[in-house]
Amino acid sequence: MEPQWSNWLERLYDLRRDKSGSHERPHKPALLLSIIDLVDRGVVTCNEVPLSDELVKTFKRYFAVVSRENDQPTIQNPYFHLCGDKFWQLVPVAGESAIYKTGATSGAPSVAELRRRVAYGTFDDGMWHLLSEPVARHQLREALIARYFPDDRDQLAALVVANQATPAAEPLREEMPPGRDGAFRRTILEIYDYRCAACGVRVILDQAISLVEAAHLIPFNVSRNDKPTNGMALCPNHHWAMDRHLIAPVPDSKKRAGIWRVNEERLDDRIEGQRELVAIAGKSVIPPGEEKFYPALESLRWREEHLVTAY
Ligand SMILES: [Zn+2]
Repeated sequence: MEPQWSNWLERLYDLRRDKSGSHERPHKPALLLSIIDLVDRGVVTCNEVPLSDELVKTFKRYFAVVSRENDQPTIQNPYFHLCGDKFWQLVPVAGESAIYKTGATSGAPSVAELRRRVAYGTFDDGMWHLLSEPVARHQLREALIARYFPDDRDQLAALVVANQATPAAEPLREEMPPGRDGAFRRTILEIYDYRCAACGVRVILDQAISLVEAAHLIPFNVSRNDKPTNGMALCPNHHWAMDRHLIAPVPDSKKRAGIWRVNEERLDDRIEGQRELVAIAGKSVIPPGEEKFYPALESLRWREEHLVTAY
């Protein structure tokens, strides 16, 4: 599925969006995140996405996080204009004609009119194939967030994990002087070959928008340690979860790069969105290419100690 994946990813990275000054409207990526959310929750189960109340409600939740300036939560705009990106179509109800005309520049019809004339929106088969597979869907979500909403990553991930009853621990904010950060990032991504050490996802379009991030094992503001053995390449989702001590790479006598442990008190594999985090428990850390860069024992121990198990 490699060629398809990169092809679809490129199309998602290049959504046609309205501009207000230099600000690009967040509507289309927010709509796609909302649809992914509905598929995750089993609300959408086939390639038919009606403009339902649940979709509108979910869109508003995402929109509240990503909107800027004078953005309005008008779902009819992306639901209609996404047709212009060529992988989404609106299927008319029986007796109605197609509502979207190629190259339409006029405003979108109202929600009421869309509901009256459109049965559902539908994706191209290739795109739906990815959306219907949990792992690919997760990667699409991460890619959309990395591309369009990198500053809102924590809050968007929290929407996904929001169902849990216990509050998340305060994240450890890393403060990085400019310059230092860039060098650490480049080194870590290279030695891990741009691969998440937890799930193995590896997406590079170019270095500036590689999906994978460089994480400190012992946070820099605690350790002042920028050595490669205190770092690990992680996708945004696993980086986020490690920062909150929901998951941790811990020492293991046989697997020298460590194994993953999860905080079972705070994660529940019956909850969508947490299942993928729980699933890495007991898996080995996907190691960097060279043994001299394996995580330091001290760094793995720090992570182990801070994986809060009793809550
Ligand atoms: Zn990952």
